[in-house]
Order: sequence, then structure tokens, then C-alpha cells
Amino acid sequence: MLFTEDNANKKRKCCPLCGSQNIYNRKLFERDFSEAGDMSPFRRYQVYCCSKCGMLYAGDLEETMPLNDYYRKMSKYDDNPESWDGDDYSLRVQEFIADSGLQKTSKIIDVGCGAGYVLRQLKKAGYTNLYGLELSEANCRYLQNSQGICTFNGGIGDWSSGVAKHSFDVVVLKGVLEHLMSLYDDVLFCAELLAEGGRLLLACPDVTNFPRFRDCYQQLSSEHINYFDTNSIVYLCAALDLELIEFREVGLFRPATYSECSMWMFGKGTGKTLKYGNVAGEDSMVLYLSQCGNQLKQIRERYSSYYLADGFYLWGAGTLAATLFQFGILNKNLIRAVFDSNTNYHGHLAYGHPVQSPQDLQKMKRFPILIASQTAFAPIMGQITAMGLNNPIIDLFS
Ligand SMILES: [Zn+2]
Repeated sequence: MLFTEDNANKKRKCCPLCGSQNIYNRKLFERDFSEAGDMSPFRRYQVYCCSKCGMLYAGDLEETMPLNDYYRKMSKYDDNPESWDGDDYSLRVQEFIADSGLQKTSKIIDVGCGAGYVLRQLKKAGYTNLYGLELSEANCRYLQNSQGICTFNGGIGDWSSGVAKHSFDVVVLKGVLEHLMSLYDDVLFCAELLAEGGRLLLACPDVTNFPRFRDCYQQLSSEHINYFDTNSIVYLCAALDLELIEFREVGLFRPATYSECSMWMFGKGTGKTLKYGNVAGEDSMVLYLSQCGNQLKQIRERYSSYYLADGFYLWGAGTLAATLFQFGILNKNLIRAVFDSNTNYHGHLAYGHPVQSPQDLQKMKRFPILIASQTAFAPIMGQITAMGLNNPIIDLFS
């Protein structure tokens, strides 16, 4: 392999589970976030399927900043915690814990707890011994002061936060595993927090559910770099002597919101291992990618049906906008300004412009607004109406 400086800066040149080198593994897709590199932890990555162990992962990662710095500074997860009204995914995690028959006084920690969605569901259900580990200081302050939940400020593997002095009956990682760079080290750190007979609860997207979604490659986001199925989760935990004791799909009622996720409960020395059926992670990923490819063709046709030669505003600076750039649907020359509601993005450069607050639109010239979000389309339309804006809307999805 040619050793260039470019190549040297890439992270993950092998499978994060078994170490098989990328050059021997199947390359399924390329992701390019370079037009919004200022706000994304990675500029580019390749999606691989390991020929040896079957793990699906992002490799050849071009980092823009150390991952912990990104989650500390650019967190999407510390935005307006008071807006929370009890989300379905966290409720499912709480139910999973409740069904496992643990006492309400069990010592439970949520690792990467964000604004404490799971912890607040547990508190509501009567659990009294709750802890969080979280990188964002704002989240820690909020949980400590407003919810009275003891929170350690730090990341996984960070012994200075004081968390390692404790041991827990349940260690929860919800929506965390798909973000982690060093899978073994990070899960080992969490497993070591377990008390005798403790349970490790992992909840993350399950690649075998991806084909349910036509979401324009959103599952391969700027933050998600591991795409698990039950096989790969079991492979990872088996190396740490953890046995799968229960499995459940999150299976939410509200469509397209976390319905791709599953939950796995692991224990140590339990003497029982859950049997599970055939898992087809790679087939699911390939099918998902081809469905997204078809969807992209429709979006391209839709886009070309609008007259946009005078330019337009882009509302939504995230993964979907990056996808539209990656495939050459959007063109920087036509973009007049970029808006996003996430205050952490404001002032950062994306698609040739500093990201602005949507409030600024009120005093700006009336150009069409392209809404670059599928899931937030309706709320954004609601906001546009509430602000009394009468700009023409470019709708690529409905
Ligand atoms: Zn592998």
C-alpha cells in the first residue's frame, strides 16, 4: 500500500471487531461530508463489510477533530432538554429493564446519557438509584441541578470522572455504540463498571432493520460509524465474556423514529445464552443502499422540476444536505444562505456559508427555501408558518 500523508491521517484501516484489513474487506459505499467538514466529526469515510467476521463499519475515516471534542462542543444532544416529553425509545429501554425483574433500588448508570432521557423515564417509573456519565457539561449541570441525578462529567475510558470507583447493577448504552471508535476498549470500560451479576444493556440501530427505511442514507450519518446486527454484537461481547440473555427490537409505534433500533441484554456467568435465528446484516445493508439510490433518483427529478436559477436558501445543514452535495444534486453557486435550528452549528461554515439562525430569515430577501430534512420537514414547515414567512418552498420529499 502506498504510504502517503493523506493515507496516514485516516483512522480505522481494519475491521474494528476482528482486525481484518480494509483492503481485504468489501467496500459498499462512500460517504462525503467535506462540504460541511467544520460541523462533522469526519470529512469522509468508506462503508465496509468485513470478509472475515461480517462486521459492517465505517473505515478510512478522515477525522476533522478528536471525537470527544466533537461530542463535547457540537453536541446535538444538549439542545433544549426541557422540550422533552418522554420519548418512545427511552420508554422502551425502561420497559426492558423493568421486565428483567430488577429492583427499583438497583444501581443504574446510563453511559452517554445526553440530557438524561432514559434516566428521566426510569425516575418516572420509580427507580431511585440513578447515575449518568456524559461528555457535555451543560447536560451534566442540567441533570444535577434540575433532576437531582448524579452525573459524572467525562467520556468512556476517562477514569478521571470518578465513575470507575463505582459498580452498577445495570450499565446502559443507548444510542452510543454506533458512535464509538474503539469498540473493545470502550465496551470493556463499561463491562468493568458492572457489579457481580450485573447487566449490560446495549441499544443501537440494527442493520437488519435498515431496509424498512427510505431515508436517503440517513443511517450512514456523520456520527454513525458502526452498523451492528445481533451477530456482531454477540461477537463483540463474547470476547469480554458476556453472554446474550435477552434480545428485543425497539419497534416503535411512531413510524420512522428509532424503529431501526434493537436492544440486547448481556450478563456474565449466567450459564445461559440466548439462541437466535439467522442474521443477514450485509444483505440488509446492500438492499438498503439500493433503495436509497432509487430514492435519490426521484429527489434529483424533483429538484430539477423547480426553477432555481436565481438561487435559494438551504434550511437544514446536516447529513441530508451533505448527501445532496455528495451526489451533485445541490450546487454551492445557487445557495444564498444556510440555516439550521441547532444553535451549536451557528457561525460554522457549511456549503460555502456560515450557518445562521432561521430567525434571520425574517429580515432577508425573499428567495425560495429548500428544506433539507426528511424527518423534520413538517416541524420546519410549522416554524415557517409561525414566523409568517411567505418564501416559496422547495419540497424534495412529499
Ligand atoms: Zn471483522
